[in-house]
Amino acid sequence: MIMINKGFCSNDEVWKGLEQYPDGTELLWKNILYKLVSSDDALSKKTGKRSLVLEPLGKFVEPKRNEKCFCKSNKKYKKCCLKKWSRC
Ligand SMILES: [Zn+2]
Repeated sequence: MIMINKGFCSNDEVWKGLEQYPDGTELLWKNILYKLVSSDDALSKKTGKRSLVLEPLGKFVEPKRNEKCFCKSNKKYKKCCLKKWSRC
């Protein structure tokens, strides 16, 4: 299983502790790639924690190592986004 930015796996645990991560952290959840952003009211009144919005970036299909990266950088996957991830 892939972890985005060495943070998260694709399961329901994805929300746990998410507020500790900076905006722009990418995560994979249920085969959709999301970017983490802060919501307008920075702190949730209920919990006092930073409230977050997950901005969907698109459906994630992992390319083969020598295929073009899904992020449209025109680089091979192995020389691009593959490097910033780790696996469970
Ligand atoms: Zn890439």
